[in-house]
Amino acid sequence: MRKFKTESKKLLDLMINSIYTNREIFLRELISNASDAVDKLHFRSLTDPAISLEADELGIRIAFDKDARTITVSDGGIGMTADELDKNLGTIAHSGSQEFKEGVSADASAEAGSEDAAQIIGQFGVGFYSAFMVAKSVRVVSRAFGSDEASAWESDGLEGYAIESVPADALLYGRAHGTDVTLTLRDDTEGERYSEYLSEWKLTDLIKRYSNYVRYPIRMELTKSREKPRPEDAGDDYKPEYEQYTELSAVNSMTPVWKRRTADVSQDEYDEFYEQTFHDYAKPARTFSLHAEGAMTYDALLFIPSKAPFDLYSRDYERGLELYSANVLIMEKCADLLPDHYNFVRGVVDSADIHLNISRETLQETAQLKAMARRIEKKVTSELCDMRDNDREAYEAFFENFGRGLKYGIYSSYGAKKDELADLLLYRSAKLGKQVTLAEYAAAMPEGQRQVYYAAGDDAARLERSPQVATVLAKGFDVLLCTQDVDDFCLSAMRDYSWKPAAKEGEETPEAVLLEFKNVASGDLDLATDDEKKQAEEAADKNRALLDAMREALGDEVARVSVSPLATDAPAVVAAEGPVSLEMERVLASQPDAPGVGARRVLELNASHPVFARLQAAQEAGDAEKVRLMSSLLLDQALLTAGLPVKDPLAFAQNVCRLME
Ligand code: ADP
Repeated sequence: MRKFKTESKKLLDLMINSIYTNREIFLRELISNASDAVDKLHFRSLTDPAISLEADELGIRIAFDKDARTITVSDGGIGMTADELDKNLGTIAHSGSQEFKEGVSADASAEAGSEDAAQIIGQFGVGFYSAFMVAKSVRVVSRAFGSDEASAWESDGLEGYAIESVPADALLYGRAHGTDVTLTLRDDTEGERYSEYLSEWKLTDLIKRYSNYVRYPIRMELTKSREKPRPEDAGDDYKPEYEQYTELSAVNSMTPVWKRRTADVSQDEYDEFYEQTFHDYAKPARTFSLHAEGAMTYDALLFIPSKAPFDLYSRDYERGLELYSANVLIMEKCADLLPDHYNFVRGVVDSADIHLNISRETLQETAQLKAMARRIEKKVTSELCDMRDNDREAYEAFFENFGRGLKYGIYSSYGAKKDELADLLLYRSAKLGKQVTLAEYAAAMPEGQRQVYYAAGDDAARLERSPQVATVLAKGFDVLLCTQDVDDFCLSAMRDYSWKPAAKEGEETPEAVLLEFKNVASGDLDLATDDEKKQAEEAADKNRALLDAMREALGDEVARVSVSPLATDAPAVVAAEGPVSLEMERVLASQPDAPGVGARRVLELNASHPVFARLQAAQEAGDAEKVRLMSSLLLDQALLTAGLPVKDPLAFAQNVCRLME
């Protein structure tokens, strides 16, 4: 017996016990090796006209035997000599691929196709040894192409391995070159049922999942049983006889849909691929692809789902794209390829340029991934812009599903993402009664408007009827009605929107105009004319004692009581001063670990409302109790109108009754 090199032994232990948490990938690793071996032979045949190969001769076959507990992966590839078996499988992490690659570039660098040669060979580490995660012993029978000897390598993956000479025709299927790798599975334990791999269903599932796009046919050999033909003279007492036969079933679909030219693939095929791969019942809303060449070559096929998955906004939702390296699935959800605000995008990225470390489960080349992620993000943005401009209905449906994520992206980046995302936002316009983009809002503004007015709350119908919205509309300005929790936070994070007006015919492109977002419920909504302001100031001065008494009656509930310069049809409204709006207060209070952050509230009185005259009368009559009662009621009714809770509903109800008495 030959011993594994020490470092190999250590790695083997590590490997079996920890690195790969995902045992089932052993099959993918063996199939990748088989495919590489076929690649090598295929490549040799390209430069050596004496070699002619039949496709069938090369293919990969998988067979299993339930009773013997074995799984065999066979290929008609380049094979290995006894020396190569020793070198390649005796030393873990010895990269035979690397050596072959160097050999090829030395011999054939001038030849056309040598680049292909370099590309076809994986850059992977210790794939073969993953077999020991499920096998108690592995036997590899191999015959190198052009050799008339075959050898077998066998090991239990513990201390060492043995190599012996076997008859030249020892390969399965009468092959004259290639490799058969046979695993004898470990015994089942309480925690691990290795026998689950001994089924057509399970193996097919694994091949389809991980190796569907390997470029050679992978066929599964199935032993089936059928009834023998009945003899013609079979009587009533004839007992049917059965015979066994083998059937080959093709498993993988070889050319991945993302590698085919877009023009050659129908939308139906894309839809089918999408539905099967991402387990969605609905067709995608949008399908698009990206082919990058240069420093990094990769293909991406991307989809925007037509419905949000139920768990999209939950903590459990995992974003990510499927990552393939040269047709082999490396990672099912590579999160680094998508920014959070595009977490709904589904798809596949395939690059032969991705380098992987010892475990294919962990990618190290994050810089490469980052570059790809940036490109993908740009592509998604441009695709969404296209949808917005050319298929508005579809875009509105998209936004309904995923708009919240875009807003959240702006908010959580503290506005850093606004340049990229602002033009993708849609809000309901109070004036037009439909969804508009910020640019559409801006284009419809009256001359000189420099603010984007919005109202935030949980109910569009109530917002629309709120006194503050009515006031702004009456001034001739449109108001965006924002009903998602994230809205006020998002717009505050953005602060302003840089509007690029479209150029008029024959004129130069106008300069961008900076528009500031303004919540209509903010205390410093500067909409009043000088006249109106003056009147309000005068009214406040005249009623100073009343305002002070009200402020005192309301205690901590308000920071100020003022006279509003703007006429509304309500006796009073509640507004907020400073960075925290009433809407933010409402949203924050609804969080499980409410931070207890409050808005600085201002009760703004309407001096021309009959209620104001009653207040004045009570103050003049020295009826402090009545002033207190009315102050409390005014604040509470203003809060209710704004969709906010009153602090003490019982006190409110009692106050209303006292008034009626
Ligand atoms: P890697 O494939 O990443 O180099 P492995 O441990 O999976 O690492 O395999 C080691 C080497 O053994 C390969 O590089 C290859 O030279 C050889 N090998 C493995 N499987 C086969 C096979 N089916 N046919 C020919 N050579 C193989």
